Amino acid sequence: MSGVPIYPGAASAPTRTLVTGGAGFVGSHLVEHLLNLGDEVVVLDDLSTGSARNLAGVAGNPRLEMIHGSILNTKTVGSAMQGCDRVFHLAAAVGVKLIVEQPLRGLRINIHGTENVLTAAIEHQASVLMVSTSEVYGKNTADRLREDSDRVLGDPLLSRWTYAGAKGIDEAFAKAYCDQEGLDVSIVRLFNTVGPRQTGRYGMVLPNLVGQALRGQPLTVFGDGEQTRCFSAVEDVVPAMVLIERDPRARGQAYNLGGAREISIRDLASEIIRTLDSRSTVELVPYEQAYAPGFEDMRRRVPDNTKAHDLVGYEPHTSLTSTIMRVAADLLSRERYGSDTMPLAGAGSFRGVL
Ligand code: UDP
Repeated sequence: MSGVPIYPGAASAPTRTLVTGGAGFVGSHLVEHLLNLGDEVVVLDDLSTGSARNLAGVAGNPRLEMIHGSILNTKTVGSAMQGCDRVFHLAAAVGVKLIVEQPLRGLRINIHGTENVLTAAIEHQASVLMVSTSEVYGKNTADRLREDSDRVLGDPLLSRWTYAGAKGIDEAFAKAYCDQEGLDVSIVRLFNTVGPRQTGRYGMVLPNLVGQALRGQPLTVFGDGEQTRCFSAVEDVVPAMVLIERDPRARGQAYNLGGAREISIRDLASEIIRTLDSRSTVELVPYEQAYAPGFEDMRRRVPDNTKAHDLVGYEPHTSLTSTIMRVAADLLSRERYGSDTMPLAGAGSFRGVL
């Protein structure tokens, strides 16, 4: 009887999952979650905005393989996907500041890179969860943005809109590959996800303001500060991503994953100062000074999370106050232990394929 499993499925291989962008902020939390679920995980990351430090806590795990490479390289994508059952596609050029400064790079990675991942997934018969963004809704200020809400975008010649444009194309590619080539793909649209390991270097407001509050500097609030967002905690979002990926009803569908509480950026700044007991003040900075002349912001962005709630029970419950405290603790520990772009010595390493 040797070789016969005692329990059904006991001898079946663990799920092998590729996470593109796995060394990034959301990606690294997802990798930890997947390892906890028992997956073998392959990370493909070009370490441009991600960091080996983000994976320091799991780098020694024998079920984790880390590849330093770009989704723009088809060979690299193909080799990373060898033997994988599913792919979480997070690799992207992200951050409004970065997109405004380097639109060409953003377009290439977000459009050509994504198509490389989707075509490789078809070839390797892997399912895909594609991570998209609430940016696709653009300037639509609807009370609650539903997945089928209209997109309201500005002049395509303004670099600010290239991110929304590219991610919209990505979603259209995913749907077309699903309908025409049988790709098993679902999409999540993240709304201002926040938490430890997010860096303010690429413009994200919460870590940026928390860092300023910790240093006693003025908190830079852009525009009049009355624009609103709904911040969602990464630990609420990541498990929902995995449940959506697994659910056959999600195939060819998109799901909002956002926070429940709408807050203006001015109020966010006050809440950060209060929570951290900081002596900082708030400074209003004109948009053209913060970004570029002609920059257009979203006045309001509020998700309707009903679709994800009905499918997988998604319910954001982590409070903004606790997220602010955890982000502050994380930023302090990074400052203490050095630059977060520097790989930790002896903490496992990325295999370079480029
Ligand atoms: N913002 C700000 N100060 C900062 C960074 C951002 O006031 O230091 C504003 C930004 O103009 C936007 C909001 O905060 O209105 C959220 O910006 P973020 O880049 O985090 O995300 P977005 O929702 O724009 O994608």
